[in-house]
Amino acid sequence: MTAKNMLSAPQLQDYLYNELRDIVKKHHPKADLSMLDLAYEFALLAHENQKRLSGEPYIIHPLKTAMTLAQMKLGVPIIIAAILHDVPEDTSKTLNEISKEFGPDIASMVSGVTKLGAIKYRGMERYIENLRKMFIAMAQDIRVVFIKFADRLHNLQTLEYLPTKKRYRIALETLEIYAPIANRLGMGEIKGQLEDLAFKYVYPKEYEWTYSAIKQLYGKKKAHLDKAIAQAKKFLAEAGITPISVHGRRKHIYSLYKKLASKDRDVEKVYDLIALRIIVKDLADCYATLGIVHKYWKPLKGRIKDYIAQPKPNGYKSLHTTVFLDDGEIIEVQIRTQEIHEEAEYGIAAHWSYDESGKKSIIPREVRWMQELVKVQKEFENKKEFLEGLESLKIDVFRSRIFVFTPKGDVIDLPEDATPIDFAYAIHSDIGDQCAGAVINEQIQPLDTPLKSGDVAHIIVNKDRKSPNADWLKFVKTRAARTKIKASLNAQSGGWIKKILKRDT
Ligand code: MN
Repeated sequence: MTAKNMLSAPQLQDYLYNELRDIVKKHHPKADLSMLDLAYEFALLAHENQKRLSGEPYIIHPLKTAMTLAQMKLGVPIIIAAILHDVPEDTSKTLNEISKEFGPDIASMVSGVTKLGAIKYRGMERYIENLRKMFIAMAQDIRVVFIKFADRLHNLQTLEYLPTKKRYRIALETLEIYAPIANRLGMGEIKGQLEDLAFKYVYPKEYEWTYSAIKQLYGKKKAHLDKAIAQAKKFLAEAGITPISVHGRRKHIYSLYKKLASKDRDVEKVYDLIALRIIVKDLADCYATLGIVHKYWKPLKGRIKDYIAQPKPNGYKSLHTTVFLDDGEIIEVQIRTQEIHEEAEYGIAAHWSYDESGKKSIIPREVRWMQELVKVQKEFENKKEFLEGLESLKIDVFRSRIFVFTPKGDVIDLPEDATPIDFAYAIHSDIGDQCAGAVINEQIQPLDTPLKSGDVAHIIVNKDRKSPNADWLKFVKTRAARTKIKASLNAQSGGWIKKILKRDT
């Protein structure tokens, strides 16, 4: 038993918080952590007496979520938002209180996370569709997506405590939505962890098979690897190169499974089951190291890849080579700088960590994120899974779309500044025609109120109402609403004329 296991619940949470605080302090030595301390106190109080299904105090979950982000070197505001991310939804403390205590920026991140969670499950297909739309909507602040990934990682780690059905659904949506988006964003480590945790719940048999197939092989390869690590360190030292790190890395089990499925399930043909990873200080050292590696170990033909000169489409960079060790064992060697390494592990989040100033400040990266999402869309399109309406998506179109919830959790996408009338007609012509009022985020609002992404809108319907109001034409934003209003008005006036004609005869 470790010392950590012997801690009481209050001791454990303080221990975790201090660990978190230390990591943040290490990566951001100049940051003022008083707000972070305040967030911990605030969340602790808000979640007081709440327990997770695992039996742990609830606070452990936001702390672990924040820890993942801290390890990615992300800044203090996002860590604070992660600590608070479940407060408005699960406790009596409101978003307004968070805004008062911690400011609008943190409140807006927390609200983004809460909105993503507001999507309710009503059939897998519809659910996935809604979730994809919301991810796009949340692209305005990618930090929300980072928090959501970290949140999901911890939820997957404690998935065994959930009922079987829910377990399967969460794992499946992780494989179908979260992991592909993480991949597109170049967040390889996060993607790998998400997939590995979800794998055994979605495909238990395949998981068992893969696991048993590699178990022995891992043991065998590990011995070779340890020897190779020691040798590599020696070769490098002799050449005057001081590596930052020389270590082994295991291939993620889900990506191994996918690779095996495409290679007749022959584990021996997977050369990167375990890789030797060498991290050095700069690009010159990368290429020098490659030369040294090839000097001592003969490279396998056609397996030298320079992803530094030609990065993979998702931005992945590294030098890869597959070599024969002295004993004839084949192993992949990956060479990269520390900066490239962090980028490969955390993708777009690695760039983010160098910028403390906030969300809107760095346009090119924001554009890159948008471009990545467009690619995600295209992938789904190719699979004929993605929404028809979003097919011709362009970045500018994207920016001018908003996503509004129905009270049941469906997501309706509309142009910017669309009104409750546009929303009503987007749901159904009858709801538009009989619209008598709108409740937006639980408050009655005028029918020409511009809606915002993430709003929950409820249309009050008057069944006795026979026709729309012609004044609505003055403010509706969608062509669909305009056309339907005109059609209904025409039909109504036609009916009225018919009535008069009838009376006259
Ligand atoms: Mn959570």
